[in-house]
Amino acid sequence: MNSTLNEESVLGAAFLRHEEPMDDALAHDDAVYRTLLESTKAIPWKIDWNTMEFAYIGPQIEAVLGWTPSSWKTVQDWAERMHPEDRDAVLEFCVAQSKAGVDHEADYRALTKSGGYVWIRDVVHVVRDAQGRVEALVGFMFDISERKKTEEKLARLQKELEELSFKDALTGAGNRRMFDIVMNREWASALQNDSTLSLIMLDIDFFKSYNDYYGHLQGDECLKRIAQALETAKRPSDFLGRFGGEEFVLVLPQTNAIVASEVAERCREQIASQRILHERSPHKQQVTASFGVGTIIPSEHTDTVTFINLVDTQLYNAKDNGRNRITAINRA
Ligand code: GH3
Ligand code: MG
Ligand code: MG
Repeated sequence: MNSTLNEESVLGAAFLRHEEPMDDALAHDDAVYRTLLESTKAIPWKIDWNTMEFAYIGPQIEAVLGWTPSSWKTVQDWAERMHPEDRDAVLEFCVAQSKAGVDHEADYRALTKSGGYVWIRDVVHVVRDAQGRVEALVGFMFDISERKKTEEKLARLQKELEELSFKDALTGAGNRRMFDIVMNREWASALQNDSTLSLIMLDIDFFKSYNDYYGHLQGDECLKRIAQALETAKRPSDFLGRFGGEEFVLVLPQTNAIVASEVAERCREQIASQRILHERSPHKQQVTASFGVGTIIPSEHTDTVTFINLVDTQLYNAKDNGRNRITAINRA
């Protein structure tokens, strides 16, 4: 990556700023310049401003794109050998900059003779005559495929990392951070639209004794299965998160109390249908969970923390009333 950058600046000094004073011995030695230009990886070119024809293009072009130097006749050839998705924006930009007499650079995918594409960075310098009129465009094309590949890989990794940082590693549900973000977002949205927002909080029953009896690893497996069951029970627009330990939350945007209780009941049934054995549970020796459900139309007089605590209280009422059940409150 760096070598290309260095090459850009070194060549930029030697070739693009050719109006600067040069060593006399070299100034008239075209052969030396030609050798220099044609022995770099960068591809030099020159376009006559009046005719819009290529006055020169380095032979290196053929190794990179497969097109012979003589096949580059006019700017039209250059434009046509550009990826259709890049063409309009690049042309518009380069024409505007050139007309304004401003040096510029553009990245685009150039068509190869075999039908593929190579990422090119074109660095363009505007040459003027003694009167200051634009006379020609000169520049270098650089093959930046490797750089682009690295950039794309970095972007992919970045996206993966972002996804991971919002996911609970064990269950794949949203993590606590994600829940906070979603909860605040949906609260603000419901507040603005005067719409109902529901929240379900659930906690696995007798999970400490499950761990004690079956071991922590099987406890982890159980958590995964519960998360899968909840994923199946919820609607696509509901957010599922792991609140912590063996507690999960579901945020249900634009959902009234009746529908919220139906979703909670579906979650309870899905968990039951897993039939996860729990010797020490009084509920048919199977893993169950208790649910707290709350529905609200957010207003300026209340906040997310108060609402979450209200739903948490419902959850603990469900525990107190015998577990494996749903307790709901409607504040809408
Ligand atoms: P209750 O019915 O009142 O909810 O009782 P409980 O035993 O489920 O509640 P308690 O809070 O006493 O125990 C929760 C247990 O959850 C304790 C802890 O070992 C277990 N736990 C929390 N996080 C994890 C985890 O990531 N993996 C496993 N295997 N166990 C966990
Ligand atoms: Mg708990
Ligand atoms: Mg529990």
